[in-house]
Amino acid sequence: MNLLVATGNQGKLKEIRRLLDSADVEVIGLDQLDAPPVVVEDGDTFAANARKKALEMAAFSGQLTLADDSGLVVEALDGAPGVHSARYAGVQGDDAANNAKLLEEMTGVVDEQRRAAFHCVMALAWPDGRCQTFSGQVAGLIMRGERGAGGFGYDPLFMVPEYGKTMAELPLDIKNRISHRGTALRQVIPVLQQLARQGA
Ligand code: IMP
Repeated sequence: MNLLVATGNQGKLKEIRRLLDSADVEVIGLDQLDAPPVVVEDGDTFAANARKKALEMAAFSGQLTLADDSGLVVEALDGAPGVHSARYAGVQGDDAANNAKLLEEMTGVVDEQRRAAFHCVMALAWPDGRCQTFSGQVAGLIMRGERGAGGFGYDPLFMVPEYGKTMAELPLDIKNRISHRGTALRQVIPVLQQLARQGA
């Protein structure tokens, strides 16, 4: 069974591919489509954006499609960067600039108020307009400087207290075990397995 994974973010794609190892699916990337549309992520919630991406790409491709919308929610910043995580500093996908802005915004915030969480909503959409969503979160603390070279996005600034390490210092298998994306995707896998059994 084919599954289009509708993300242009290579960090996400790497994690999703590894998480889908146990599902009986052939992952198709956006790079295998001819001139896919650019979906405008103008929803107010992760769920709205994930549904929009998945539904538009499923309709365009005619394939069962999985899309992820995710981001960082920081308590001391009233939930920012939230749904704007990918373009927090102004340029879509500029991780270095986003991290620099986050550090600046958190200057002077005391340790007890540096709580944050990564959120993820996965949307599974069918070309006929059906769509199901699945969500996951992981809690942590915002560091005062970057640590670690793995992962992507805000990972070097996100401390996971249980491990005493940032997300960027954890091996991929451990990140996937505890992450917002892993939690959401582990709920999708049985649905995919069921569909594969039905020969969908
Ligand atoms: P999206 O493509 O609109 O879902 O943007 C997601 C953005 O949230 C990414 O560009 C990152 O800045 C951030 N993000 C989401 N998941 C992660 C993660 O697992 N680690 C670090 N940053 C993440």
